[in-house]
Amino acid sequence: MNVLVVGGAGYIGSHAALALKRHGYEPVIYDNLGAGHAVLAQGFELIVGDISDAGKLAPILGRVDAVMHFAAHAYVGESVINPRKYFQNNVLDGVTLLNAVLDSKVRKFIFSSSCAVYGVPAKVPMTEDLPRVPVNPYGVTKLIFEQALEAYGPAYGLGYMNLRYFNAAGADESGTIGEMHTPETHLIPSAFEAIRGQRPALEVFGDKYPTPDGTCVRDYIHVTDLAEAHVLALEYLAGGISQAVNLGTGHGHSVREILSAIKRVTGREVPSRMAPPRAGDPPELVADPTRAEHLLHWKAKRSLDEIVATAWKWDERMRMAKK
Ligand code: UDP
Repeated sequence: MNVLVVGGAGYIGSHAALALKRHGYEPVIYDNLGAGHAVLAQGFELIVGDISDAGKLAPILGRVDAVMHFAAHAYVGESVINPRKYFQNNVLDGVTLLNAVLDSKVRKFIFSSSCAVYGVPAKVPMTEDLPRVPVNPYGVTKLIFEQALEAYGPAYGLGYMNLRYFNAAGADESGTIGEMHTPETHLIPSAFEAIRGQRPALEVFGDKYPTPDGTCVRDYIHVTDLAEAHVLALEYLAGGISQAVNLGTGHGHSVREILSAIKRVTGREVPSRMAPPRAGDPPELVADPTRAEHLLHWKAKRSLDEIVATAWKWDERMRMAKK
C-alpha cells in the first residue's frame, strides 16, 4: 500500500514515514521543505511541493491509497503573535489538500491533530469527549480542520482519524532522524541548547500554575510510539469508524521533572531561570489513552528516560555533523 506522507520531512512526519516503511508500506513524502529538512526524508521518495498546490498534488494522489497529513505550523507562542500564518497554512491550505484528496480516489485520511483542541481541560486525564475550547490560535486551526473532516467524512465517504497528540518528544532509536526546528522552542531540545551554552539558560515559563510544583504539566510521548499509532490507525480505518483518538502516555510530568530527568539521563545540569508564563499555555494536559488502547490496540511503550536518552543521542549526532 502506498501512503502519501504530507509534511514527511518534518519531525513527526519523518518518524511516521519510517514506521510505515518498517511495517511494509511504501511511503511517498510530500513536503515544501519550509520547516522540513530533506535529510529527514533520506531513503524515501521526496516530492518537494506545497499543500496549496492542488495541480501538483493531483497526479501524486492518483498513485497512493491513503494520506497522512503532518504539514502544519505548530508553535503555540508564534500562533498568538502571528495567527495569520496559522490560519493560512493550517486551515486554508490544509483544506486545499483535503479537497485535492476528495478529487482523487483516496478515501483514507489520517490527520495530525493536537491536545491543543481541548484548551484548558475540565478534567485530567483527558478523554476524547471533553469539550473542545482551544485557548490559542494554533489549537483553533487544529479544531477547524477536525471539524472539516467531521463534515467531509459522512458527506463524501471519507474515512478519517483525528489523532490528538500530546507532547511528542525523543528521536528514533537508530539516531538517524530526530527533532530539527529553527528556532528551537520545545522544552527538551531547548534545555540541551542551555546545557551546550547555545543559550544562556532554559527559561521556565511560569511557576505559579495550580500544579504540584507550580510548573506546567504535560504528557510527553516518544515520537516512535506516536509514529507506530499512525500505522495502526491506518489499519483500523480499513473497517473502523472515523473518529478522534488521543495519543499520550496517561502520565504527566512538570517542567521541573523534565529538567531532573535530563540531569539523571545525561549527567548534565540544565542551567535554568524563571520566566513569565507563555501566552496560551494551559496548566496541565495529560491524555486518557483508553480509546487508543481499545480501538488501535496501542499503548505507549517508551519511558521518559528513553525519550531523553534518544533525544540526547540525536542532539549529539547533529552537533558532530555540524563540526
Ligand atoms: N517550556 C518552558 N520553557 C521552554 C519551552 C517550554 O518552560 O523554553 C514549557 C512550556 O511552557 C510547556 C512545556 O514546557 O509547559 C512544553 O512546551 P513545548 O514548547 O515543548 O511544547 P507545547 O506544549 O507547546 O506543545
